[in-house]
Amino acid sequence: QPGGNKQIKESLMEEHLKATGKKVYTRFPPEPNGFLHIGHAKAINVNFGYAQAHGGVTYLRYDDTNPEAEEEKYFTSILETVKWLGFKPWKITYSSDYFDQLYELAVDLVKRGKAYVCHCTGEEIKAQRGGEDKGPRYDCPHRDRPIEENLQEFQNMKDGKYKEGEATLRMKMDMQNPNPQFWDLVAYRVMYTKHYRTGDKWCIYPTYDFTHCICDSIENITHSLCTTEFRMSRDSYYWLVDALEIYKPVQWEYGRLSITNTILSKRKLNKLVSEKIVNDWDDPRLFTLPALRRRGFTPEAINAFVRDVGVTTANTIINVTRLENYVRDHLNDIAPRIMTIMDPLKVVITNLADDFVQEITVPNKPRDESMGSHKVPFTKTIYIDRSDFREQDDPNYYRLAPNKTVGLLYVEKPITCTEVIKDGEGNIVEIRAKYEDQGAKKPKTFIQWVADSPKHNSPVEIEVREYSNLFLHENPMDSTAVPGGWLSDINPNSLTVIPKAFAEVGIKDCKVEDKFQFVRVGYFCVDSDSKLDGDSKKIVVNRTVSLKEDSGK
Ligand code: ATP
Ligand code: MG
Ligand code: MG
Repeated sequence: QPGGNKQIKESLMEEHLKATGKKVYTRFPPEPNGFLHIGHAKAINVNFGYAQAHGGVTYLRYDDTNPEAEEEKYFTSILETVKWLGFKPWKITYSSDYFDQLYELAVDLVKRGKAYVCHCTGEEIKAQRGGEDKGPRYDCPHRDRPIEENLQEFQNMKDGKYKEGEATLRMKMDMQNPNPQFWDLVAYRVMYTKHYRTGDKWCIYPTYDFTHCICDSIENITHSLCTTEFRMSRDSYYWLVDALEIYKPVQWEYGRLSITNTILSKRKLNKLVSEKIVNDWDDPRLFTLPALRRRGFTPEAINAFVRDVGVTTANTIINVTRLENYVRDHLNDIAPRIMTIMDPLKVVITNLADDFVQEITVPNKPRDESMGSHKVPFTKTIYIDRSDFREQDDPNYYRLAPNKTVGLLYVEKPITCTEVIKDGEGNIVEIRAKYEDQGAKKPKTFIQWVADSPKHNSPVEIEVREYSNLFLHENPMDSTAVPGGWLSDINPNSLTVIPKAFAEVGIKDCKVEDKFQFVRVGYFCVDSDSKLDGDSKKIVVNRTVSLKEDSGK
C-alpha cells in the first residue's frame, strides 16, 4: 500500500542520515581484474573530489564478484595506485564482504515474489529478449513458479546441486519495458571457482547488477557516481533497492575518458599482455597508471589533466598530446637538468693539457637558484651529439662545423672545429677543436657535452628507451579507419632502445623514478629495470615526453 511505502522510505532516510551525519558518501568501485588506467584517474578524481568538496568521505570498494577474472596482484596494485595519486580511502571494502547479506537479500527478493530460478540456456535467454529478426520479447517459462519452489531451487543452487549454466536466479522485472535493463536480469549464477577472499565457501556468485546497488545502499553511499554506459542501469538500480525496500542512493553519470592512439579497456589490456604485444600491465607504452608512473608521469600532472578535462556527460577522446602537455609543464618545474649525449661524437680540444680539468657548475634549473646545482668535470676530451655537427656548413647553421665556433653549455669559452678525423670508410670518428681564448665573441648557440674522463667516472653509460604511440590510428576501435580490428593497428615501432648513451656524472646517484630534463633532449625517468647497486650497475631511463610537443615522434 502506498502509505506504508512512504513511511518505509522516510524511516530508511532517517536511518541513513543518522549513519552519515548528512555527509556526502561516495565510493570508487573498481573490479580487481586489471591495473587502473587513466580513465580510472578520472573516476577517482570525480568520486574523491566530489566528496572532498562537500566535506564527505569516499570508500575504496573492490567490486570482486567475478572470481574468474580477479587476482591478488590486481588488488594490491589498485590500492597502491590510489595512494600514489594522492587519495586516501575512508574505508576499504569488498563486495565480497557482503556476500552473506547479498544472499539474504536475494532470498528476501524471492519471498517477495520478485525473483525466480531459471533453467534456460544463454541462447534461450537471448531469444526471450527478442529483436528485429527474432520477433517479440516473451517471458521465461520459469517466470511464474511458486515462491516455495523458487526458494528450494535457489537453495539447491547454493548447495551445489546444479552445474554451471544449469540454473540462474533472475529478477522478475518487466519484460515489456523498452529498457533492456528490465528484462529479468540475472542476479546469481552458479560458478565453481575459488574466490580470492571467500575461497570455496560459495558456488553461486551475485552479478554486478544485483550487487552494485545493494552495496551502495549498505554503505550509505549518497551519490553513486558512474560512467554514462550505466544510464540504462540507473532505472534497474532503483528498481532493485525499491523492491527490497532498502535505502536508495542517487545515481549520477559522467562521461568516460578516452585517449587517442591507445586503448583502456582492461579486457583488451589483458590481451595485449597475454599476447606479449607489450611486456606487462606496466609497460610504459600503455596508459595504465602504473605504466604512466613508470614512464615518468607525475600524480600532479595526471590529476590536473583529468580535472581540466572536466566532468561532462560526453564521452571524450582526448588527444594524447594534451595529457603530455600537463606532464611537460610539471616536469619543467621539478626535473633537474643534466647533460646527456644520445649519439656520441668525440671532440678533442687540442690546446688543453692532457691533465686539464675544470669543475663546471651546472644549474639544476636555470634562472631558479632554489633548485640548486651540481658539478661536472670539463676535460680535454669530450663528447657532443653527432646531430650537433655538420661537415657541410651553411650560413643558417649555428652549431659545430669545420672552422665554426659553438658554445659548450656552462663552459666559459666556446670551441672552434679545426679538423675532422675519419676512418677508412669515410665515417667521422673524431673532431679536433680549439678552446677559444679571451676575447672570442659570444656564440649564437650552446650545445650540451659530456667529459670523456675515466678518472672522473665520466661518462656514465645509460640505456635509453623512447616510446611512441602503441596504436597507429587515433581511435583503434573505429572499424572504418581500422577494418582489421584494433589488434591489427599496433605500431611496430612503438619502442626504440638506445643501448649505450652517455650521461654526465650528475646522474650517478639516481634512484628509480627520479626524473630529469636531459638538456635539449627531453624529460626522462629512471626505470625499475635499472640495477643501481652492486658492481654491475646499469641505469635505464624512459623518455617521458620530448621537450616540445610532437618533436622526436
Ligand atoms: P574497463 O572496461 O576498462 O574494465 P570498467 O568500467 O569495467 O572499465 P571498473 O574497474 O569497473 O572498470 O571501473 C571502476 C570505476 O571506474 C567505475 O565507476 C567506472 O565507471 C570508472 N571508469 C572506468 N573506466 C573509465 C573511464 N575510461 N573514464 C572514466 N571512468 C571510468
Ligand atoms: Mg566494471
Ligand atoms: Mg570491466
